[in-house]
Amino acid sequence: MSDPCFNPTDRMLTADEAINFLLERARPVSDMEQIDLFAARGRVLAEAVLSTIDVPPADNTAMDGYAVRANDVANDGILTVTQRIPAGVVGKPLNAGEAARIFTGAPIPEGADAVVMQEQCSQDRDKLTVNTKVCVGDHIRRRGEDIQAGAEILPAGTRLRPQDMGLIASVGIPAIKVWRRPRVAIFSTGDELVAPGEQIGPGQIYNSNRFILNGLLQTLDCEIIDLGSVPDSLEATVQALQAATRDADLIMTTGGVSVGEEDYVKAALDQLGSVDMWRVAMKPGKPVAFGQLGESAFIGLPGNPVSAFATFCLFARPFILRMMGVQEVMPRRLPVTADFDWPKEGPRREFVRAQLRAEDGLMKATLYPAQGSGVLTSTVWADGFVEIPEHTTVKQGDSVTWLDFLELLS
Ligand code: AMP
Ligand code: MG
Repeated sequence: MSDPCFNPTDRMLTADEAINFLLERARPVSDMEQIDLFAARGRVLAEAVLSTIDVPPADNTAMDGYAVRANDVANDGILTVTQRIPAGVVGKPLNAGEAARIFTGAPIPEGADAVVMQEQCSQDRDKLTVNTKVCVGDHIRRRGEDIQAGAEILPAGTRLRPQDMGLIASVGIPAIKVWRRPRVAIFSTGDELVAPGEQIGPGQIYNSNRFILNGLLQTLDCEIIDLGSVPDSLEATVQALQAATRDADLIMTTGGVSVGEEDYVKAALDQLGSVDMWRVAMKPGKPVAFGQLGESAFIGLPGNPVSAFATFCLFARPFILRMMGVQEVMPRRLPVTADFDWPKEGPRREFVRAQLRAEDGLMKATLYPAQGSGVLTSTVWADGFVEIPEHTTVKQGDSVTWLDFLELLS
């Protein structure tokens, strides 16, 4: 989307156009910090991690057994056990006709070239009988077979998982450079909103989006500046945006981004910064707004809770991941089998809430019966979204595209 004349407000955008437009404008946070490896989960590497050592650092045994010279076994099969090498101990060189009792992880003694599993030997005092054929290299983990000194073990931009932390630890590094966490300010718009725990009056509803957004941002390990809910007035919206922009890299709101008379987010942003209102051809979802307010980016999500949830997962999440410095930001799309009919094609791409289960060797998706954008229960029942493209019908047994909540909510 490099067309300089492209104006996203001209017409209905496809979901792909909207995501491309957003990602082109996502600026990674530029401050890095050094943190302890213990605190690394979910953080994003600002620098590649290189190893200065081989892992494993020495040839060692993958089994409990006996270190031998393969050739000795081929010749005779009876050896003399001359030493015992537990993990953490370096043995003596092994001479011809000798075997070393050895335990998993212990370094292979000089002279030995194979390990025989203890189950395949019998030992009588210092006499060892080997009851199997032995080849050079059997059950030996070679020095550097996992990592070689000088290798890049993780590239910059990696969002660290427990196994990444383990890999970094395995090369002896106790602290790493990561990008600062993005600071995200949020508020919900709507005169009708009441906080849980308060008495609800006529015409009012409880504010659920606030909790959805908090939870979603927690999954991304963002710093959250929660400004609560804001009444439907230009003045209140301007004030909230001014407060939000003080510290935030990103401001996110829910509701108030339609073109109704009670929707003040666009007016307030027009006054303070800039904003594009989009009608994105997706369901649930439109409208979404993107803008800039001083140093803060702005994403306005729809008010309907399911729409807010879906647009966060599909648009805001990749945008925030990019801000966090992550390279791969798009969720994985997997083929699954439809266990439903979708007879009526529509002009908008649909993200329907579905459960996934294995049956007859297939992964089958079933739809929640109520797909309205206010039915939050659908998101609780579901394991993910089935993505149904524009102008498409689906018949039971067709292959459809699956987006898993396990990924979208992590
Ligand atoms: P809006 O986009 O402000 O027109 O809101 C669309 C719908 O979503 C309306 O039915 C609102 O009452 C509802 N809604 C907006 N914000 C929230 C919220 N924070 N929690 C629950 N429902 C909301
Ligand atoms: Mg509203």
